[in-house]
Amino acid sequence: MSVEVRTTCPYCGVGCGVLARLDGDRAQVRGDPDHPANLGRLCSKGAALAETLALGGRLLQPEVAGRPATWDAALDLVARRFTDTIAQHGPDSVGFYVSGQLLTEDYYLANKLMKGFLGSANIDTNSRLCMASSVAGHRRAFGEDIVPGTYEDLEQADLVVLVGSNLAWCHPVLHQRLLAARAQRGTRIVVIDPRRSAAAEDADLHLPLRPGSDVLLFNGLLAHLAATGATDPDHIAQHTTGFADTLALAQSDAPDRARVAKGCDLHPADLARFYDWFATTPRTVTVYSQGVNQSAHGTDKVNAILNCHLATGRIGREGMGPFSITGQPNAMGGREVGGLANQLAAHMAFTPAETDRVSRFWTAPNIAMKPGLKAVEMFEAARTGRLKALWIMGTNPATSMPDATRVREALRRCPFVVVSDVTRTDTTRFAHVILPAAAWGEKDGTVTNSERRISRQRAFLPLPGEARPDWEIIAEAARRMGFADAFPYQTRAEIFREHAALTAFENDGDRLLDLGALSDLPDADYDALPPTQWPARRGTEPGGRLLATRVPTPDGRARLVPVRHEGPARPVDRDFPIALTTGRLRDQWHTMTRTGLVPRLMAHAPEPVLDLARREAQALALQDGDLVQIDSPHGQALARLRISDALRPGEAFLPMHWSGLYAARASSGPVSNPATDAHSGQPELKHVPIRVTRATVR
Ligand code: SF4
Repeated sequence: MSVEVRTTCPYCGVGCGVLARLDGDRAQVRGDPDHPANLGRLCSKGAALAETLALGGRLLQPEVAGRPATWDAALDLVARRFTDTIAQHGPDSVGFYVSGQLLTEDYYLANKLMKGFLGSANIDTNSRLCMASSVAGHRRAFGEDIVPGTYEDLEQADLVVLVGSNLAWCHPVLHQRLLAARAQRGTRIVVIDPRRSAAAEDADLHLPLRPGSDVLLFNGLLAHLAATGATDPDHIAQHTTGFADTLALAQSDAPDRARVAKGCDLHPADLARFYDWFATTPRTVTVYSQGVNQSAHGTDKVNAILNCHLATGRIGREGMGPFSITGQPNAMGGREVGGLANQLAAHMAFTPAETDRVSRFWTAPNIAMKPGLKAVEMFEAARTGRLKALWIMGTNPATSMPDATRVREALRRCPFVVVSDVTRTDTTRFAHVILPAAAWGEKDGTVTNSERRISRQRAFLPLPGEARPDWEIIAEAARRMGFADAFPYQTRAEIFREHAALTAFENDGDRLLDLGALSDLPDADYDALPPTQWPARRGTEPGGRLLATRVPTPDGRARLVPVRHEGPARPVDRDFPIALTTGRLRDQWHTMTRTGLVPRLMAHAPEPVLDLARREAQALALQDGDLVQIDSPHGQALARLRISDALRPGEAFLPMHWSGLYAARASSGPVSNPATDAHSGQPELKHVPIRVTRATVR
């Protein structure tokens, strides 16, 4: 009988602990009862992990120009083409597009290579599509990208408000914890979502607001809190700035409740109930996710929510706080190491002082001095010829990026595309070099979940074929580019220690991302590292709640940010009269490269289905089961139709998962809107104007 290995689920940002073992050739997986995120629970996706480990479709050998190659030949070519491209066209002519599936150690090295040694900040991540607006909102309010609370806060709250979050399907174990707590203490749950989602079915109150009207709703709430004396004047005076200006703008934007109800298209009594519950319930947690972030005004939406918590002092205390939850297993780890193009490692910014800090720490000869291209910009730069070499790690932008048809054109035009991944995807079709990477169960390192908890992913399977861990591939490429002294790593523990040391580098005591206590972990302690929440400062107990009083802004105060309601980037019109939103299904993960292998997960939704509001279906004389064509200003898709009473009139929903691998032309990517938030660069995936017609099948 083999040894059971403690590891972490590779899917969503809840970050559940998993116990995995291999008996002969049969893997078994169960929830880790000792992991604080899930206490033994797993959702349908996590419970099926053992069924996703078959090697069919795996990349087992490097390929150059579609032919098998040795690692030496493939890596020499990658190093030479990147080096030559930079020599000819400058450092901003190359880019890395990485993934929340990478482990922190992989992410750290990719960021170090691009920003410190290749001299460009053109490294961005698919987490840009997921939570970049939350990062930008946190930085505006707190000075650093901090999620103040813990999962326990959802269990200790009396009111939990889910904004743009179908927690029941997208973060199922956290939803299970919330429902279990409600059975004990009678927690009220409010869901704010245009769609009557699975989470809304479990709510005490569902507010099906007009898409994009979140800022108006929360500006109205702030005005209501002030008018009813529900704000906390002491907290505002001692720990915040900007209250008066923020309130004044909220009051002018949302002068009375009737106008908010009309603007948000909500029943006035439902709106009044929500405002009353929020005003009178000190223990309130507001959870927000992709429905808030994936918007051309996502950052303002985040700050509108944060404003209400800061004005009431409900932050960083038991059972209270704003709580951004991440979609991917290591979106938070990527944020820590600077995986976004607009920030440096350790939550540092591109200021002269902080670039100097990082440059000296890395002994970097050529540190990037300015932010790089964000995801949408990066592919557009490849399409227009400015970006000439692109390395894509562990993600499938040919399907998942908005306006995916243009992204495929970009990949076709880019002179040199490298893809390191575990399986063939729509994106590997465009690669000049394919590098086989280690998959979940084979790789080893750390991830950080939505409550800032670092957990180990540990290997329990041998590496198949010639596959290698991402950190090894990146370090090997860096050495061949001439940076051997800066990339000498023999183990992932060395990389983790360096990352931890950088977070504590010349720490002036204000920063909250601090892993100083982990910066000299011996290898054995790294291997045995239990789930550990940051901050993890030397000499103090790690983890806990943050931001109740101490805030890492220059004046030590949190900032309320005045925000004004703006509509979607492109409203519906006569040509495209239906508002499409996109999202996850219960049993699928991203572009289905793993969950699509499991028949019982596929059984939940065997094919892509467009949910369409009954009014539009009737007006178009469409029936359940009809094959329909979806046209947007950006592209087309095909799907089966389902008439829905869970959608507001004029709206439709399409899952994000399907790709050309599973159902030709049926994917949300090609129709999605590439308009982005001005602060975060996050695309507006939650509002796409479309028209729907019966498909003509030839
Ligand atoms: Fe994995 Fe998320 Fe499910 Fe937990 S809730 S088992 S992390 S997919």
